Amino acid sequence: MTTQNRPATWVEGAAGSLFDVDNLPYGVFSRADDDEPRVGVRIGDLVLDLAPVAAADMMEVAHLFEEPGLDGFLGAGRQTWSAVRSWVVELLTDEHERGLAEPALVPLDEVRLHRPFTVGDYVDFYCSLDHASNVGRIFRPDAEPLLPNWRHLPVGYHGRGGTVVPSGTDVRRPKGQRKAPEADAPTFGPSARLDIEAELGFVVGTASRLGTPVAVDAFADHVFGVVGLNDWSARDIQAWEYVPLGPFLGKSFATSISAWVTPLEALETARVDLPGQDPEPLDYLRVGAGAGYDIDVEVEINGTVVARPPYRTMYWSPAQMLAHLTVNGASVRPGDLFASGTISGAERDQRGSLLELSWGGREPWSLDGQERTFLEDGDEVVLRLTAPGALGRIGLGEVRGTILPAG
Ligand code: CA
Repeated sequence: MTTQNRPATWVEGAAGSLFDVDNLPYGVFSRADDDEPRVGVRIGDLVLDLAPVAAADMMEVAHLFEEPGLDGFLGAGRQTWSAVRSWVVELLTDEHERGLAEPALVPLDEVRLHRPFTVGDYVDFYCSLDHASNVGRIFRPDAEPLLPNWRHLPVGYHGRGGTVVPSGTDVRRPKGQRKAPEADAPTFGPSARLDIEAELGFVVGTASRLGTPVAVDAFADHVFGVVGLNDWSARDIQAWEYVPLGPFLGKSFATSISAWVTPLEALETARVDLPGQDPEPLDYLRVGAGAGYDIDVEVEINGTVVARPPYRTMYWSPAQMLAHLTVNGASVRPGDLFASGTISGAERDQRGSLLELSWGGREPWSLDGQERTFLEDGDEVVLRLTAPGALGRIGLGEVRGTILPAG
């Protein structure tokens, strides 16, 4: 579909908004007066309740939208994703369909949004050259910022799928062991260096077979779409525990994702070339043109934008992440989630973590005239992601969370 011949939507207020018919993200909602969560598509400031419309249209997949999550739809595969998207576009642009679809539109402020799918295995990568370099400089100021493997493979670790929560879920400050560099022994207590990581998450739809790697060019056959993601991180717990096996309790207490899952099809117009890879990666990681995505991120704390990390600067592409994640034969299943790692650009105001904004806590930064390093109780963090769509900019939903005091 092109911009020129795409008919406009009849939905009031949607045309020209961040949620026009070139976007159409999926989510799971319930009405305030009836607590049965089911699948919806966002258009403007409304949710299209898919189940009754699909049933009336005798869609074969109608039952998938009555489920309390996207799990069944994710597993239905790329042809179904594409066919349903075309059907929804038709519903929302053809005046003849208006009588059918309009009664199924529910105002967003009358619904509750839920976790959009059951999260399976969760992997977090480390794909930003600027972020990895900044972290190297902060922790190893006298050494080469990048470790020797970094330019050869997308570095990652397995996180905790069961603690991935939807936008709007409060996050309790974690407690744990932490040890100051000069202290003789660790102490136990609330994290004093609670942080954010602004990331993009990729949602697997189609399973792969155990023992069979997913090639870089099969990425869009397996991945359904993307979510905004905040990888909450307790830096003091992380610093003491991470050697030699990597992040553990400093990360696993909570990971927030947007309530809306934006299909890859909506991001076709946002595809850009990677900034460049040197040295050229091994064969199984080689990608062509358009492997990256031009997505802008805003990090807002208590209503003030503190950083604007640019996703287009990421060194490793999502197709490379998936190819690497499966190259040993490990399989993926519907609902598996993998994330990009902190998105940071080259400029100071493009850093996607407070670790970098405060340079390891050594350089306080100003939030509305107040000196800050890490998060304080009561802070509300919102990530907002947008990208160029076929009709203008599209919104990827927001990732919102408020810090509660340690219990
Ligand atoms: Ca991370």
